[in-house]
Amino acid sequence: MKSYDVAIIGSGPGGYVAAIRCAQLGMKTAIIEKYSTLGGTCLNVGCIPSKALLSSSHHYEEATKHFEDHGIEIPGEIKVNLEKMIGRKQAVVDQTTGGIDFLMKKNNIDVFEGLGSFIDATHIKIEGKDAQEIEAKKIIIATGSKPSNLPFITLDKERVITSTEALKLKEIPKHLIIIGGGVIGLELGQVYRRLGAEVTVIEYMDRILPTMDAGLSKELNKVFKKAKCKMMLSHKVQSVERNGEEVVVKAENKKGEVVEFKGDYCLVSVGRKPYTAGLNLEAAGVKMNDRGQIDVNDHLQTSASNIYAIGDVIKGAMLAHKAEEEGTFVAETLAGQKPHIDYNLIPGVVYTWPEVAAVGQTEEELKAADVAYKVGQFPFRALGRARASGDIDGFVKILADKTTDEVLGVHMIGARCADLIAEAVTAMEFRASAEDISRMSHAHPTFAEAVKEAALAATDDRALHV
Ligand code: FAD
Ligand code: NAD
Repeated sequence: MKSYDVAIIGSGPGGYVAAIRCAQLGMKTAIIEKYSTLGGTCLNVGCIPSKALLSSSHHYEEATKHFEDHGIEIPGEIKVNLEKMIGRKQAVVDQTTGGIDFLMKKNNIDVFEGLGSFIDATHIKIEGKDAQEIEAKKIIIATGSKPSNLPFITLDKERVITSTEALKLKEIPKHLIIIGGGVIGLELGQVYRRLGAEVTVIEYMDRILPTMDAGLSKELNKVFKKAKCKMMLSHKVQSVERNGEEVVVKAENKKGEVVEFKGDYCLVSVGRKPYTAGLNLEAAGVKMNDRGQIDVNDHLQTSASNIYAIGDVIKGAMLAHKAEEEGTFVAETLAGQKPHIDYNLIPGVVYTWPEVAAVGQTEEELKAADVAYKVGQFPFRALGRARASGDIDGFVKILADKTTDEVLGVHMIGARCADLIAEAVTAMEFRASAEDISRMSHAHPTFAEAVKEAALAATDDRALHV
């Protein structure tokens, strides 16, 4: 039987990063993955493929709607070849997952393909291609998550689908009905709207992206409405039925009336749930909490002291970079180091266009906690760079402590915000004040100038260009 210092179950961004860091720190490491490709949800059916389709559909929209503004004329009709677009997405995925194979080899990590389950706290049975039993002193569970569903919906995965199927459709829907106005619904809704589908978003809460700052929800809702998406807020879905090629969704509005929507596809994107099926956790003495997550302490250690858990399968935001941080955290803990993660500083990004990005506390959270704060906001339309490229929607909002001026939250919507948020994370990691940011030179002309201007506005209400 092969024996390891550490074995990791699951090869998503949590698992494979943990494996690399364990190997870097001198541990003999194995990783077990039930699928034939490494990279988990993120690389195979999540972050990477969705961003590939967002990019392709963005190019199409630019070509059909905005090239002309720039004096670029394309004779003839511009058409979408969906098969080729999906094929390109798959090629990007294959290249990316292939990169993880390379990293495993480079770091001398043994990869086992098969379903891993606990025999006891130090032994794992692998069923599948590389069937065998292995032994490990420490084990990290990184088994991720799967799409959630509503109890009354049958996901036939043809017309009533999850994000996994939405990433490989064979035709552009005529009318895509999306249940859930969260990250997946909005990113994939925008993809298919750009490609020509009619899109209806049905959201239970009174705003899309309900966990983000309300200002961002409002601005993105405007963008979707401008693109002629139907945004049905405060609607409680009651039933989803498929009749041949038609899908009928019924939802109750705020007045208690039942509204009916007819489309040809329905994407169910109401969140994801931790995935622990088949792990046989009881055999290892690993306990779950009442939300179906693996229970961990502050060291990400489970109820079995040699077993740790990271990523989507435990509490916290279901984000690839959060899983990665936790992978590194556990590896360094096992090596006797004292790592730290500040969960308040894990940024959240929605890759629509304009992009939405945030870090730290929202206005709603600061109000609820009775924190006195000030707001500095700056619109992208006031920036030369934004006007030059034609991306003028959105703003940067900085929330700073009223007394100390420390930055408490940064919320932005606009072009390139997914990248701009890194400046806010760095500033907050070093506990910068709004004035600190406002006194740093930002290259001109850049979108980043909106961050400096918002900081000036927060410091003393002295933004320069509004
Ligand atoms: P996962 O990536 O889910 O990996 C878990 C792995 O464990 C899987 O490969 C699974 O097959 C394997 N596994 C499970 N059980 C076993 C077992 N018993 N034996 C062997 N293997 C097992 N996050 C972002 O930060 N940015 C984004 O842009 C983003 N976009 C997304 C888009 C979509 C459409 C989706 C669905 C998700 C997106 N996410 C995004 C979320 C992100 O994918 C997850 O947060 C991330 O993948 C979690 O990483 P993980 O390592 O915890 O688990
Ligand atoms: P989500 O939690 O982002 O959004 C789910 C939405 O569905 C919420 O707005 C919720 O109010 C709504 N909802 C719940 N029940 C409903 C009902 N009965 N009727 C109507 N609406 C209902 O979940 P998601 O969009 O499915 O994404 C799952 C996870 O994947 C998220 O945690 C997210 O972090 C991650 N993800 C991240 C990214 C990114 O970082 N860019 C992209 C995609 C997915």
